[in-house]
Amino acid sequence: MSEHRGHRIRIVVGVTAAFLLLGAVTTVAIGWGAVTFGGLGAINSQWDLFAGPEPGERPEGAPPPLAWPLRVPEGWPRVQGVSWSDGFGVRWDGGVGGTDTQTVITSVRAGWPMGALRWVDERVIDGTGAASSMSLRGSVRNPIATGSMGSWGWYAGSVPRDLPISPIWLGLAADVLVLAAGWAVLLLGGRAGVRVAVRARRRRRGHCEACGYEVGQGVTTCPECGAARETLEASSSPSA
Ligand SMILES: [Zn+2]
Repeated sequence: MSEHRGHRIRIVVGVTAAFLLLGAVTTVAIGWGAVTFGGLGAINSQWDLFAGPEPGERPEGAPPPLAWPLRVPEGWPRVQGVSWSDGFGVRWDGGVGGTDTQTVITSVRAGWPMGALRWVDERVIDGTGAASSMSLRGSVRNPIATGSMGSWGWYAGSVPRDLPISPIWLGLAADVLVLAAGWAVLLLGGRAGVRVAVRARRRRRGHCEACGYEVGQGVTTCPECGAARETLEASSSPSA
């Protein structure tokens, strides 16, 4: 008995692990697919005129500070302008601070329904427009697409299609769970649906629902597999 239960537990654990793996593969496929083939929509921008290099008092009635999701490197001015744009499965955020010398942070997040993977690019651009320092983290070169997802003046004119590999743990977990559940509904639901349809057809034809053996009218137990037949009325009316 307990051996039987242990077998069932192993099956449940195995099937769950398989669906989670399927969810993880799908999460990466959607995110990288969106970065490779997707596009960014209209670019939105917002500036905070009160966010100087030194955090000061915000005048009464000033709009709330910019919501900037990334950590600004040590010694950098605060982000004064943000831009963002998104498409299916991909979101781009840009932040800029400073005046003559500008500090620019760009991040691409990919995944659906939440951002699961990202890369972050930090660079300092001097008055001539040249980048004096650059740091790109969490990305690998895209072997398929080398173009850009969209244009923006801060960021050398474009957002590259580099593939993000740095995990955003909360979004990654959420995406894997949602997509694993989606696969489970699709595959297990499809299997159950096929089983229901097969049994219904056997019932209509007067066959045993359990094994499909052709049994005669009015027989209450299948001679082939021994299954009880409870649908004598249905089997005797082949109209459906
Ligand atoms: Zn049978």
